[in-house]
Amino acid sequence: MVQSSVLGFPRMGRLRDLKKANEAYWADKLSRDELLAEGKRLRLEHWKIQKDAGVDVIPSNDFAFYDHVLDHIQLFNAIPERYSKHNLHKLDEYFAMGRGIQKDNVDVPSLEMVKWFDSNYHYVKPTLQDNQTFKLSENPKPVAEFLEAKEAGIVTRPVILGPVSFLHLGKADRNQTVDPITLLEKLLPVYEELLTKLKEAGAETVQIDEPILVFDLPSKTRQAFKPAYEKLTALQGAKGPQLVLATYFGDIVHNFDVVDSALTKTYALHVDLVRHPEQLEKVIEHLGPKQILSAGVVDGRNIWKTKFQRAIEIVETAVQKLGKERVIVATSSSLLHTPHTLESEQKLDAEVRDWFSFAKEKAAEVAVLAKAVTNGPDSVKAELEANAKSMQSRATSKRTNNPEVKKRVESVQKADYERKNPFTTRYEAQKKHLKLPEFPTTTIGSFPQTKDIRIQRNKFTKGEITPQEYEKFIEKEILDCIAIQEELGLDVYVHGEPERNDMVQYFGEQLDGYVFTTHAWVQSYGSRCVRPPILVGDVSRPKPMTVKESKFAAENSKKPMKGMLTGPITCLRWSFPRDDVHQSVQAQQLALALRDEVVDLEKAGIYVIQVDEPALREGLPLRAGSEREKYLSWAVDSFKLSTAGVEDSTQIHSHFCYSEFQDFFHAIAALDADVLSIENSKSDAKLLKVFIDEAYPRHIGPGVYDIHSPRVPSEQEIKDRIEEMLQYLKPDQLWVNPDCGLKTRQWKETKAALSNMVSAAQYFRQKY
Ligand code: GLN
Ligand code: ZN
Repeated sequence: MVQSSVLGFPRMGRLRDLKKANEAYWADKLSRDELLAEGKRLRLEHWKIQKDAGVDVIPSNDFAFYDHVLDHIQLFNAIPERYSKHNLHKLDEYFAMGRGIQKDNVDVPSLEMVKWFDSNYHYVKPTLQDNQTFKLSENPKPVAEFLEAKEAGIVTRPVILGPVSFLHLGKADRNQTVDPITLLEKLLPVYEELLTKLKEAGAETVQIDEPILVFDLPSKTRQAFKPAYEKLTALQGAKGPQLVLATYFGDIVHNFDVVDSALTKTYALHVDLVRHPEQLEKVIEHLGPKQILSAGVVDGRNIWKTKFQRAIEIVETAVQKLGKERVIVATSSSLLHTPHTLESEQKLDAEVRDWFSFAKEKAAEVAVLAKAVTNGPDSVKAELEANAKSMQSRATSKRTNNPEVKKRVESVQKADYERKNPFTTRYEAQKKHLKLPEFPTTTIGSFPQTKDIRIQRNKFTKGEITPQEYEKFIEKEILDCIAIQEELGLDVYVHGEPERNDMVQYFGEQLDGYVFTTHAWVQSYGSRCVRPPILVGDVSRPKPMTVKESKFAAENSKKPMKGMLTGPITCLRWSFPRDDVHQSVQAQQLALALRDEVVDLEKAGIYVIQVDEPALREGLPLRAGSEREKYLSWAVDSFKLSTAGVEDSTQIHSHFCYSEFQDFFHAIAALDADVLSIENSKSDAKLLKVFIDEAYPRHIGPGVYDIHSPRVPSEQEIKDRIEEMLQYLKPDQLWVNPDCGLKTRQWKETKAALSNMVSAAQYFRQKY
């Protein structure tokens, strides 16, 4: 029979229970035992959900209080001394690494956290020493959780991160020079010990994740797979569990030689057939003679119902070649990236609700698919029929298809992507029009989102104050912001974004083609969750979205007011995208909606307009090469389409929360934005060198101070930083601004920091 399996389940619980428990524990409002008990309750609940859904292979050790990679850091005792030396309780040591600790004379910042592949989840980076040793922790978590499930009557398949991925995803600690992959030999005995213990506890199979197989890997890393898996597969059967080697988020075709060298000896191989269905045939060719294929056909990264017909076709193809005993139907990746359950969405309109499937529903989907293939379609007739009906409804719905939008897209001309004139001509027009000093100062958009703002927004959402009252409140906030900027002596003002709850949601709520959920949270990092809006259909803008506030602000200020928009790629990336049209199409539709907004802002008297694209880089495909170039080409096009509708004298800004442009500088340059503001205060100023090397002609505002900390930078510090920047940028190219928006800051430190920033800019005006 074809078995069904889930690669991992979200940890937060139905109502973000884990977030609440963690945060209560950190605030000393919940005891350690209570937190541990809550973790146990959630694990049991999640196993039960999957069991009740009919899933055959249920994962364990997919739960983590903070992050699963951090779990492995502790599991292998790869804990830097600055955390281990305080003899903290294990749980507190764990959180200290995850989020830093400043308590009872212990003061250590967290380990570095970075994006998990191209998802919006962040993992804690293993941070390794030159003389690193590894030792399996006492009562290893994967064993403990396997036994916990077993006690509850559920036999699970523990999930662990494989040794090669663990090392490859890690880095040398500061002041250390070790190349992590060279530590493999030292690490393997710990895996052998762990696998042996799992087998002793009764685990017949273990899922071992090596997701880095979807990357282009350096040869040292590629070569590490063979020795690692020769050792680990040798244990299979007698001393150790059968290994299910899992890859996801990409294809593994370019790494087949690695697979051939040792990975065909694992009991099963899992591949992502949602993102890369075309790899199926080649993967089958490369399987070992008895190796089982775990076919990831239920999307772990999105919220759409699985197209059963298509999924069954894929699984059937595999079954025809391999037989039912050698195929498992699975989620494409862990369901970590999907919300908990659709049952919580009581406010969604019934038509669209029927198109979605969250983690709990996806668990049921794998079970239905396995049944359909094992016993024939008639065994799940009702489910298949309902699914086909839902697919049909979505494909033909007016919400999905808007002929007006299609017409508009077709009418786009090549010229619509280009500004009227090149930068030098535009700059002359802008100089005359805007009359800005040298070293112009500005901010990135938001000002402190005070408690009062949140209270009033809440009251407004609940209907406790009228729209007029709320509008008055927002206007007052804007006026206050302007008065403060005037007093500080900034050159280009912003309205402060008090009316915005979130930089994507705010636009999504006003665009046709989006829907919103009430509980569809997904973990971003630690206890932080995001609730991305969902793109369901063709996007259009029924009416202006930001003109009212920006116009009011511009009319009440003596200096240029900057309009503030979120760019098409960021709107796309920070939403759940559609899976029925290519992302480039969605980006183009978003771009057209934003283009109208940009033009309307200009008409309303806003002559500096910033279109933020902080998410541009994270959309970069995981592998370099043609896929990446294709993405950059449509991403750049959509930015240009959104901004190119204005006159020469209107200045287009864009903002990025990073400054590592090396791999795709040509794309940044191709945006043709008049001014770029970028994060830079925590990065090496040398990163700016690329701007001279590439003879970048336009203007740049590298952030002069870090906005993530309440610390106020001195005027001297800012001057020093600008001086450093001037090694790489020409004086007349440079803008002076903070790293990013100021919404998370308090007013007190904001004013102090900006005042120092303005003084520093004045100093350079004198000097040059
Ligand atoms: N304009 C936004 C702000 O200032 C930009 C936020 C961002 O880059 N993430 O808040
Ligand atoms: Zn930013």
